Amino acid sequence: MLTVDILTLFPGMFPGVLNESMLLRAQERGLVRFEVRDIRDWALDRHRVTDDTPYGGGGGMVMKPEPIVGAIEAVREVRGAEAGPIIYLSPQGKPFRHAEAERLAALPHFTLLCGHYEGIDERVHEGGWIDEELSVGDWVLTGGELAAMIVVDAVVRLVPGVLGNEASAANDSFATGLLDCPHYTRPDDFRGLQVPEVLRSGHHAQIEQWRRREALRRTHQRRPELLDTADLSEEDHRLLREIQAESSDPEPAEDV
Ligand code: SAM
Repeated sequence: MLTVDILTLFPGMFPGVLNESMLLRAQERGLVRFEVRDIRDWALDRHRVTDDTPYGGGGGMVMKPEPIVGAIEAVREVRGAEAGPIIYLSPQGKPFRHAEAERLAALPHFTLLCGHYEGIDERVHEGGWIDEELSVGDWVLTGGELAAMIVVDAVVRLVPGVLGNEASAANDSFATGLLDCPHYTRPDDFRGLQVPEVLRSGHHAQIEQWRRREALRRTHQRRPELLDTADLSEEDHRLLREIQAESSDPEPAEDV
């Protein structure tokens, strides 16, 4: 079972997301467990103050170190030998990509620390209480809560048994190093738009080849840089040469 501790000043933001759809099902199946902890519970004063003005002046507030470190130490104590990395959500962190989601999905435990305001007192880093930082994109959120939800959602769907059909995650964008192929469902004809004939043929080998080809085409069109690191077979290279020849891409096929 994967256990995720979430440290936040706004625990009320989480129940709606954690207790719906796939994340709820994962909990009901005993595959994951979430513990949302209010950092204010480790504030040192009776007003439960967790932020203060920045040294050096300027706008914004900074999260005080004592409640954060108190919360981290409490998690480490509760989780004991099982305790995994303390991850601070931060726009300055390592980009959160598929590989990170796969790595975290294989752990028994990790903690997500959500910042707010200008962020956390730098001494929480300096003192070694944080193991890693993850960013969900090159933009700045108000707080780490939405980033934590993104990380949790992307990780939990990769925990074995969470998705009904394991194959659906295996072929998703990035899992194979490529973008996913297009998908269709009923009706066959929607306002004059037809489902590709091959998908209705029942011919599994041809369907697989069509899907692979369309995944390669999508990746070539939208995220060509992914092709540099994707695990491509000889057949993939052949399909890519065809795709390039079909498009107006001036790049020579041998460069793929
Ligand atoms: N002053 C910080 C900076 O410029 O790097 C931004 C602080 S931001 C307003 C407040 C909190 O939101 C951060 O401490 C972090 O936890 C979270 N946050 C904001 N953007 C994020 C992102 N792209 N990825 C992950 N967390 C983010």
